[in-house]
Amino acid sequence: MEWFASMPKVELHAHLNGSIRDSTLLELARVLGEKGVIVFSDVEHVIMKSDRSLHEVFKLFDLIHVLTTDHATVTRITQEVVEDFASENIVYLELRTTPKRNESIGMSKRSYMDAVVEGLRAVSAVDVDFASRSTDVRRPVNTKNMNDACNGTRGKKIYVRLLLSIDRRETTEAAMETVKLALEMRDLGVVGIDLSGNPTKGEWTTFLPALKFAREQGLQITLHCGEIPNKEEIQSMLDFLPQRIGHACCFEEEEWRKLKSSKIPVEICLTSNIRTETISSLDIHHFVDLYKAQHPLVLCTDDSGVFSTSVSREYDLAASAFSLGRREMFQLAKSAVKFIFANGRVKEDLKEIFDLAEKKLD
Ligand code: 5GP
Repeated sequence: MEWFASMPKVELHAHLNGSIRDSTLLELARVLGEKGVIVFSDVEHVIMKSDRSLHEVFKLFDLIHVLTTDHATVTRITQEVVEDFASENIVYLELRTTPKRNESIGMSKRSYMDAVVEGLRAVSAVDVDFASRSTDVRRPVNTKNMNDACNGTRGKKIYVRLLLSIDRRETTEAAMETVKLALEMRDLGVVGIDLSGNPTKGEWTTFLPALKFAREQGLQITLHCGEIPNKEEIQSMLDFLPQRIGHACCFEEEEWRKLKSSKIPVEICLTSNIRTETISSLDIHHFVDLYKAQHPLVLCTDDSGVFSTSVSREYDLAASAFSLGRREMFQLAKSAVKFIFANGRVKEDLKEIFDLAEKKLD
């Protein structure tokens, strides 16, 4: 586990409100309990429960959203989440979140996202590179400051890019608003759009106009795909050819064939799949088949807070469950650089970081 923590890694599937520290959630719940907004004793066990069905996970998100409604809290959780990922040597983080409107406290989707960006600015423990400058001239990687992989030193710099999530409960208009906001915020590190939310809700076709518009405008797209059996939706999502998909748990032969021939990279979230019982055990997890087929893959946490995990833990878990050695795991981490949504300058920097770390492997 320590070795995986010291190795540089890339995290491409992390939901902001799913990655909050338990201690922060409890603190926020206590404050709202004191104000009489919630009954603390009712929610304490919900926060601390370790195994949850997919249905219970979405109930928990509704509770988390009650706890994190105001701008200052959004800023705080963003700062903490970035610091937590940086502390385990994540060198590039694509953080996704659903812009939220809450008229009662004057929150618009834009002001929610401004609070997120404020959180990125507030990080002091590490140097955060979050603005996407497409015309940026590449600067040499400072090897002294950069994460010194495999010798246990603490991360000094993290690249962060943002994905705006469309929640499956939203309307076509709300989804379009999110895409327009993403376009407005391109200079603030927004690189793409995610479709997520309870897979039993909504129709994917509702979001197609917004997703097509996003694509036309050059935003990159990742879709939560196949968390529950839904052949028609899975096929249609694959036909859309998103830049990446998340999960891919409930595919049948035909969908596997389509996926493999399309080479769409898959964001794999082992602990999340097991905890939510979308996959019954690791020995039948599709990671094995996709890895053997050399299909593009990246190991991710999904919701490190909700599922009490970290990227290092996911690597450790995969290494032991699938009998993979350190070198193979390092190559898996390095290959994820190819699937990031940030521009070529960032890719070049990351490649250099991984090349340097590779030289130090035993
Ligand atoms: P947020 O977007 O509020 O920052 O992060 C929490 C939200 O991410 C949840 O309300 C849900 O919409 C989405 N989410 C988190 N984990 C999952 C997951 O495993 N599957 C799906 N489909 N959506 C998720």
